[in-house]
Amino acid sequence: MSVNDRFIQSTGYQREELVGNTTRILKSGYHGDTFYKHMWETISKGKIWNNEMKNKRKDDRFFWVNATIVPYLSTEGKPFQYILIGIDVTETKEIQQKMKEYLEEMQRTKNKIEKYSSLNQSLTMTLDKEQFFDIVFTYFQETYGFDKGILMDVKKKQHRTKGLREEKIESLLEKENVEEILSRLEEEKFFVIRRKAYGEEQGIAEEAFDCYDFYTGILSTEGTVEGFFALTRLGRPFSEEEIEEINGLMKQLAVALSRIDMYEQVENTKNLNENIIENVNEGLQLVSLEGKMLQYNNVLADLLRLNGYEGKLRVQQSIWIDDFIEGAVEKEKLKDFFRESIEFSANKSKNLRFTLEGEPPVFVELYASPVFMHEQKIGTIFVYRDITKEYEVDRMKSELVSTVSHELRTPLSSVLGFSEMLLMKELKPERQKKYLETIHKEATRLTNLINDFLDLQRMESGKQEYTMELHSVNEIAMEGIEKFKHESKHNVNIVDNARFAKAKVDRDRINQVFTNLISNSIKFSPEGGDVTITLKNRKDDLVVGIKDQGMGIPPEALTNIFDKFRRIDNSETRKIGGTGLGLSICKEIIEAHGGRIRIESIENQGTTVYFSLPAHIEDHEGDHGVLEKESEDNSDENGDNVMLVEDDISLALLLSETLKARGFKVFHHIRPQSALKNAKETNFSAVVVDLMLGDDMTGWDLIKELNEHKATKDIPVIISSALEKSEELIKNCKVYDYLVKPYSAEELLRIMLEIQGKKKSD
Ligand code: ADP
Repeated sequence: MSVNDRFIQSTGYQREELVGNTTRILKSGYHGDTFYKHMWETISKGKIWNNEMKNKRKDDRFFWVNATIVPYLSTEGKPFQYILIGIDVTETKEIQQKMKEYLEEMQRTKNKIEKYSSLNQSLTMTLDKEQFFDIVFTYFQETYGFDKGILMDVKKKQHRTKGLREEKIESLLEKENVEEILSRLEEEKFFVIRRKAYGEEQGIAEEAFDCYDFYTGILSTEGTVEGFFALTRLGRPFSEEEIEEINGLMKQLAVALSRIDMYEQVENTKNLNENIIENVNEGLQLVSLEGKMLQYNNVLADLLRLNGYEGKLRVQQSIWIDDFIEGAVEKEKLKDFFRESIEFSANKSKNLRFTLEGEPPVFVELYASPVFMHEQKIGTIFVYRDITKEYEVDRMKSELVSTVSHELRTPLSSVLGFSEMLLMKELKPERQKKYLETIHKEATRLTNLINDFLDLQRMESGKQEYTMELHSVNEIAMEGIEKFKHESKHNVNIVDNARFAKAKVDRDRINQVFTNLISNSIKFSPEGGDVTITLKNRKDDLVVGIKDQGMGIPPEALTNIFDKFRRIDNSETRKIGGTGLGLSICKEIIEAHGGRIRIESIENQGTTVYFSLPAHIEDHEGDHGVLEKESEDNSDENGDNVMLVEDDISLALLLSETLKARGFKVFHHIRPQSALKNAKETNFSAVVVDLMLGDDMTGWDLIKELNEHKATKDIPVIISSALEKSEELIKNCKVYDYLVKPYSAEELLRIMLEIQGKKKSD
């Protein structure tokens, strides 16, 4: 090769060293074989080759040349020598290289800043600690590329780890170890341990190399160490800059953590306040100075039956006040109270009682109290208390006072008055007897009142003992009507349609229920009328109804008529004595038996009280069907009605049970008068009459009336009597059959089936 001066300058060789030598001595080793191969191929073909080439100087430094190699061609077109025209571009190349490095550095810094700013955002925005720990740990990992690490908040027992085995983590979390790390950090704030890699860390490396453990603390705002970050790099030390950065980040982390703590505390206090507000028994409502509703609790929503308010806050004053007063009776008063309380700024509470319409109405006590902050009123708090119970107790108290004064004083004044007369005056024996009878009657009335009172007291306090035994409720009903058989204006009778009339009951208490209810029916139908007791089965229950044709109860009084001392106060009822305890006692008794009681009434038409008892269902084959179909059917048109006019309860019961078992509906009367009336109104298959009946009307009279009356003359009459049958006796009447007591119930059943059969064939 022959060279020019500039070439010699660029290569650092002497001319003699280059001339005659090959270009090979300039090879830098930077370009691969293909580079040179391509070059030789191009120029061998007689073509010009151009490229940038990195060459090596004599002093081993590199230089770059933009080389153009031009082949000299022989006459045959074959290259026989080459000229290389090189421009030294080393400086440009170096600048380019530097630029590239700068750019890469800039890119790295940009990435770092971006990551850092996203970390910063997380540090200031994240309120969830778990998420916060994840973000921070990932950032450290990506930015500082450590091999192993643990970030730990000791107080909150939260940690994140990388590259550590389970056992290692456990041992790091042990109290003594943690304390040791913390106490060292307490003194030094951070420290780096340089040690040899051991065991697994060494991996496939033949010789042990250095590892670096860097520990730094999480400081609380008070300066105590509350956690730490420990990271290990295998073979890569931590630069001063990195240590400074990580420590700086740890400070930020500590601030962010204490911010999260504060937020959690505020959140907890807020939740606590909300829980308190939700869990108090009173309705609460907070209203702003301008009257906007800021908060209210569920109790209030339930009490005022607020709809469509869920999640709605800052409701305008005009809107919520209108909604709130809607259900109230005293609308204007309540509206004024709200307005005044919101505007009123003195530090004084106000209160108002109002009633919410409904059945039953709800009584509310409302308090308003201004809320102050730095002696400035900032709003008003309203507290709503449901005082219905207290109100009811108040009412009962005053009712009790008036009942006691009336019900006790009236009999007492008779007792005192008449006994005084007896003591002071000389009276004829008949007069004395009359006065004594009155005293006795009034004293009995007093005793009944006191007994009722004590009974209810005992029942309500759960001290009443019940002796539950299996009894026929229709029998108890019969005993009930027996007590009232002398009531001349009232026809008390039983319509027994219950296939299963037995129930487990306390006989005396159920007796008391019948007596109370029949006596009410009689008391509250002063004009007289029928009192009909019906018995039927519905599902698994025995349902008893006591129906009268009396004055009835106004609808508004029906809902709470079972309350103690509840009485209807009008000119008619005032004349009728009573304590208002009877129905409450009945309710207590029936509910203690697992039954229910309710009342239906139409003013001036009559009242029916229904109560149910769990029936004792005898498991005869085929009986279930009876219970399945509800025997609501009270029509008397089915032709299977039988009337028993009988004052012997045991016999009546026996006969009615036998007849009912074969599907007959049994109407039981004690008094012939009521039997006759009933027979005229109802369609009967037969009437069974006992001859020895009441004083004013005998069985014979009844038969005669039945035979004569248009509506009843075709009803077959069966005599049931202790007297022997004689043709003489029955010659003037139309009688279907004559049964002489004692006869078996089957005997009557046979006759009834015969009549039924005849009727069907007609
Ligand atoms: P008392 O009969 O002693 O007043 P109760 O508790 O038995 O007490 O009845 C409460 C009120 O219910 C009565 O005062 C009466 O106004 C009304 N009441 C009860 N039964 C009847 C009924 N059969 N007909 C009309 N009103 C009735």
